[in-house]
Amino acid sequence: MDFVSSSAGETGRVIVAEANPVTAGALSWLLREQGYAVTTVANRGELFAALARSVPDLILIDDDILEPDGSVLGRLRSDDRWHDVRVIVTAPWSAIEEGSGDLLWGADDCVSEPFRVPELLGRVRTQLRASGQLRAARAALRDTSTELQRARDDAVSNRRLVDMLHEITGELSPSEIYRLLARRVAETLEISHCTVVLARADDSFGTVAAAYEDSTAQDVTVQLDEYPEIRAALDTGRSVLVEDASTHPLYAGVRASSAREGRIIEAHSAATIPFSIDRVRSGVLFLRTERSQRNLTTDDVAFCEVVVRAAVAAIRRAQALETTRAENRRLEALATTDPLTRVLNRRALLDRLNTEVDRARRYESSLTLLLLDLDHFKQINDTAGHLAGDTVLRQIGELLEEAIRKVDIVARYGGEEFVVLLPETLSDGAVAFAERLRERIAAQSFDVGAGRAVNLTVSIGIATFPSPLVASTEDLFARADEALYRAKSAGRNQVQT
Ligand code: GH3
Ligand code: MG
Ligand code: MG
Repeated sequence: MDFVSSSAGETGRVIVAEANPVTAGALSWLLREQGYAVTTVANRGELFAALARSVPDLILIDDDILEPDGSVLGRLRSDDRWHDVRVIVTAPWSAIEEGSGDLLWGADDCVSEPFRVPELLGRVRTQLRASGQLRAARAALRDTSTELQRARDDAVSNRRLVDMLHEITGELSPSEIYRLLARRVAETLEISHCTVVLARADDSFGTVAAAYEDSTAQDVTVQLDEYPEIRAALDTGRSVLVEDASTHPLYAGVRASSAREGRIIEAHSAATIPFSIDRVRSGVLFLRTERSQRNLTTDDVAFCEVVVRAAVAAIRRAQALETTRAENRRLEALATTDPLTRVLNRRALLDRLNTEVDRARRYESSLTLLLLDLDHFKQINDTAGHLAGDTVLRQIGELLEEAIRKVDIVARYGGEEFVVLLPETLSDGAVAFAERLRERIAAQSFDVGAGRAVNLTVSIGIATFPSPLVASTEDLFARADEALYRAKSAGRNQVQT
């Protein structure tokens, strides 16, 4: 009872439901002549059996089979498989006249008996054309909605990827990047296990850098022999996907040892994505699902490869940045400190002084500058030697650094001249501080090695900004220098303003 067609022009599959075998034979012959594939059935039972086997485009049904309750059409229209099948009712002219709309019971068209062949074929052709259009429209709709769904899925996963990359490309340390990588990949792919393991190709052990499933696993050592997928990814430098651990050849060893020990292999599906940051640091992103969960796919692996590449680039960038910063810090330190005493050098002092004077101007505060010159320093060089002199200078630097507040600044201004800058400080307070410094220096014995020690004093000149004769950085130095000169002239080992 399958569709039988001739080779003529028209296409379409038609069921002829007709109890009268003569009429059925005639209709069948007529339709096949046109090229349609035709099946004939004689009652409802045969009709639904034929429908279940194969869905036609059109049913030509005698009103005797359709009547009396219209349940045939009801069943057709309520079943997803059949509700697009076109239906033409064949009935005596009188029945159509009387019943009109009712007779159709929801059929698409009707043809009166006795048949006029051109009318019959015309109506069949019209219905089949409509059926084809409907099918094409539905297919297009289906394709569109599939496309739309795919586009939506892509957008969602791309957005997640972009979010993730944004996070990863921020300024993070390598360990933060590993943790983020494990967490975001696990959350995005909705898998339970995602770990970053650091190891090199010939290592026997790896170290967990981050584990989504267990934050305490960080720094735990793993024996790589137990993880054939990690081993394979490290050896080949390529991603490894074990879609099903119960059959994959990589897991043969694990399966054998589990069987021997009566254990169950927890992993159902696993994937490893290798990465290499530099010659020393490499490893894998290691994903696993358990037996109740879904299998990992090549799509998951492709997704992870993109994310891992971004993470590696971010770590390299962070490192380059850190190296540059460290180098900059080193250069800056070199450029601003005095190599002998490690206090600020003269150039750095002048920078800071300008900043502090600007600040004092803006906030209408004051700052005081102490200019220190060691007394008769030349004698120390002459008697103890130049190296001993250097040692003393270094100890003076330390003494001054120890004596000041955090906001104060010590600098070596020249050979045995130092500056102490006291922001937010008026002359009186500065004089008291300078006196304490002078006393401390006078009281201290400076060790110059070989069991020898020297004593010395200091003269200090003080100037405060702002004050009647001090309106600039230059004034500050000039007034301090004048005060220092007075201190020296008045006998040294004293403070002058
Ligand atoms: P005073 O200031 O009390 O007038 O006498 P002084 O001997 O300190 O005289 P002056 O300031 O003119 O001389 C500074 C001496 O400091 C000259 C130099 O030998 C010594 N000096 C300068 N820089 C250094 C240094 O870096 N190391 C050592 N060891 N000595 C230095
Ligand atoms: Mg001097
Ligand atoms: Mg001196």
